[in-house]
Amino acid sequence: KKNTSSNFIKNIIIKDLESGKYKEIVTRFPPEPNGYLHIGHAKSICLNFDLADEFNGKTYLRFDDTNPLKEDIEYVESIKEDVKWLGYEWDGLYFASDYFEEMYRRAVLLIKKGKAYVCDLSPEEIKEYRGTLTEPGKESPYRNRSVEENLDLFERMRKGEFKEGEKVLRAKIDMASPNLNMRDPVIYRISHSKHHNTGDKWCIYPMYDFAHPIEDAIEGVTHSICTLEFEDHRPLYEWVIRECEMENQPKQIEFARLNLTNTVMSKRKLKQLVDEKYVDGWDDPRMPTISGLRRRGYTKEAIRNFVRAVGVAKSNSVVDYRMLEHFIREDLKLKAPRTMAVLRPLKVIITNYPEGQVEMLEADNNPENPEMGKRLIPFSREIYIEQEDFMENPPKKYFRLFPGNEVRLKHAYFIKCNEVIKDENGNIIELHCTYDPETKSGTGFTGRKVKGTIHWVDAKHAIPAEFRLYDYLILDEDEDEGKSFLDKVNPNSLEILQGFVEPNMKDVKPYDRFQFFRHGYFSVDPKYTTKDKLVFNRIVSLKSSFKL
Ligand code: ATP
Ligand code: MG
Ligand code: MG
Repeated sequence: KKNTSSNFIKNIIIKDLESGKYKEIVTRFPPEPNGYLHIGHAKSICLNFDLADEFNGKTYLRFDDTNPLKEDIEYVESIKEDVKWLGYEWDGLYFASDYFEEMYRRAVLLIKKGKAYVCDLSPEEIKEYRGTLTEPGKESPYRNRSVEENLDLFERMRKGEFKEGEKVLRAKIDMASPNLNMRDPVIYRISHSKHHNTGDKWCIYPMYDFAHPIEDAIEGVTHSICTLEFEDHRPLYEWVIRECEMENQPKQIEFARLNLTNTVMSKRKLKQLVDEKYVDGWDDPRMPTISGLRRRGYTKEAIRNFVRAVGVAKSNSVVDYRMLEHFIREDLKLKAPRTMAVLRPLKVIITNYPEGQVEMLEADNNPENPEMGKRLIPFSREIYIEQEDFMENPPKKYFRLFPGNEVRLKHAYFIKCNEVIKDENGNIIELHCTYDPETKSGTGFTGRKVKGTIHWVDAKHAIPAEFRLYDYLILDEDEDEGKSFLDKVNPNSLEILQGFVEPNMKDVKPYDRFQFFRHGYFSVDPKYTTKDKLVFNRIVSLKSSFKL
């Protein structure tokens, strides 16, 4: 399904194609492989791939791997998997690190033109000399080194003659520019560390603001879409393209990044949650990562529909997490079979049901989607119901089971509670009920009405299962800005229950999704489910006050 709604980026592209500035558009998704992708990245992925798709252009997946310390091949692999899972195929797969030689040559060109110099100031001094918004910067004492000296020093930087932080290469632009990014930005730094792709070949690495425009230009990217923080880097982007004499002229366009309530969305923070064991890996079902959402049971359609609905804006805002949940409910409504699961079991003995007898009751798999067919559910003398569907001393308006009251068992019969059986400590261990054969579901019985319908599973045939219920990872209510995000981690974001599912669930596979009557949408956990144990993640509960 194409995204046909208009936005300001499309308008730019339409103009550029009409004016003949570009014949074909090329976009890219340029992650740094320093973590797993999150839902914010999904927004950038959909935007870039959908635009190319709509205008018959191309989209590349490019790893922006210019910072060896934080990058790893594990992240490269996970990113490829996530982009593919979202349903996109790149027209080219590139690594910025493959361009290191060319970037070096362009830096040498800048030096030869008197547009770059080697600077010996320390990082702290560089920052101090840079000035502020109200105060012009101060020129480095190394700014006027000769071209020869700069060429020599830069070559020796490459050869590894200097220590980290001892020297950098800076663009020579304007220390009085009102734009701080133009005050002789650092374009190369020394780092004696092993790179996941180039190994020990390099000990100098280009900075983002220098590398990114060159990468885009080399690949022939036409529209380089990035987030708003880079708006005031655009003059530098254009400076690099021009002064490095790149043949292609990509255009940088900024849009508002996706922010969500009740979570964090920076790879640095997500990595901290993983490293410090707040969660069980990058794919923990509570994480806003693509792999976490996938493991939780989210579909690619829900994620794509969500990010498209959020749209493309020019100013930052925070989107309610409940909007994401709305889209998974919408997507699963007709797709997920409905079935019954008891999460906190309480045994019920139906004393007037013949011992040893089993009958099969028919039920729709999805009343909203008849194509999903019907199933048979066994029913016999012993069943489980939900503990919370019984109260010994109910308050007013409690319509479920209590002594003397009658309820409907979904797809089955009316039952009435006659006796509460307790252990020596007074804990309820089972209920004794009677059923009325005339009230069988589907027979059109109208003799009397009951106010409550509860779900159940047959005790003898049900399959034991573990249920994992999740709450938001981050508690947002707290307004204390001084707090670290770690102080806001929800200590009750995971609840693990042991209960039962219907017997026809015996052949389910990881990622299969279901709607458990009254409990919400669940999917089979791919990590903890084994041959002998079924584990379900709750994707989302059924009801929400969220309105689109
Ligand atoms: P983070 O700060 O979360 O680590 P990043 O921007 O450093 O993210 P990159 O790997 O550099 O991550 O990003 C790849 C692409 O994804 C970039 O084009 C970036 O603009 C985009 N992107 C990252 N986060 C978001 C977001 N929250 N919303 C939209 N686009 C995003
Ligand atoms: Mg980054
Ligand atoms: Mg970042």
